[in-house]
Amino acid sequence: MKKYEAQQILEKHHLVAQKKYGQNFLIDDNILKKIVESANITKDDYVIEIGPGLGSLTDYLSLEAKHVICYEIDKKMVEVLNQKAYPNVTILQQDFLKASLEDDIKTFANNQKVKIVANLPYYITTPILLKILKEPSLIDLILVMVQKEVAARLSGAPFTKDYNALSVLIQYFTIPQILFDVLPQAFLPSPSVNSSVLAMRFRQTKAVEALDIDYFYAFNRNIFAKRRKTLLNNIQCAYPFSKEVILGILDKLSISKTVRAEELTVDEIVILANEFYLLTKNH
Ligand code: SAM
Repeated sequence: MKKYEAQQILEKHHLVAQKKYGQNFLIDDNILKKIVESANITKDDYVIEIGPGLGSLTDYLSLEAKHVICYEIDKKMVEVLNQKAYPNVTILQQDFLKASLEDDIKTFANNQKVKIVANLPYYITTPILLKILKEPSLIDLILVMVQKEVAARLSGAPFTKDYNALSVLIQYFTIPQILFDVLPQAFLPSPSVNSSVLAMRFRQTKAVEALDIDYFYAFNRNIFAKRRKTLLNNIQCAYPFSKEVILGILDKLSISKTVRAEELTVDEIVILANEFYLLTKNH
């Protein structure tokens, strides 16, 4: 979709881009093609798009995929999309954060694994990703446009400022890869930030599995709660274990008592969470 086409659609329907919904529409066909090509979509693929907006990405997705399922919160956008009468697109007027992915994949995607491809509304990037991560068995690939700094964090490595609790969660479930950067001019209106397209492919196998996923989520969050504090301090703040008990576990895993969470690999954090989980469970 070109800039003038997006402007024409907005004018025709008396619409303006809604900031509250994070509406920045893609108007660069090269970027749109690159996104769709990077997702390697075939006629066997079911694709979920979060926030189709005026349909610039949906146009390309519908040409490649077997079926596209779109979640759009803005009723006015849904009216625009419905007029396009795509033959293989289901448009759900719904807040993605409230949707039942499992039910919808059963209903609209023949219970097959889906690819999620989207230019995300940036104001809810984290809750959207957390929701998707809850369904690893239903999803094959997540390929999304996000704010450039967020892409760096999601794929951040230990010992860097970008590595945080969300990097750990993303990297526990998926292998993230920044594919390319996108400048503000590719959008209407232009956002005040740069963007990156990030692919996250779900891991088929994991080196270590979290024994209890909810415990791991919370433990991971807690050990990064105060970044400047040591791992030991953060565990002491969040859990009722004595210092001796915590030091005993760190020693058993050959982890220094002066280490900070950002100096641990994802696998080390999972192993550590499992140790504390077993301790809690056996008490
Ligand atoms: N895909 C379009 C494009 O690339 O031009 C629009 C992308 S725009 C960055 C984000 C879209 O997400 C908007 O259409 C917005 O209305 C929609 N949106 C915002 N919050 C949403 C939510 N909670 N659930 C579903 N869609 C949402």
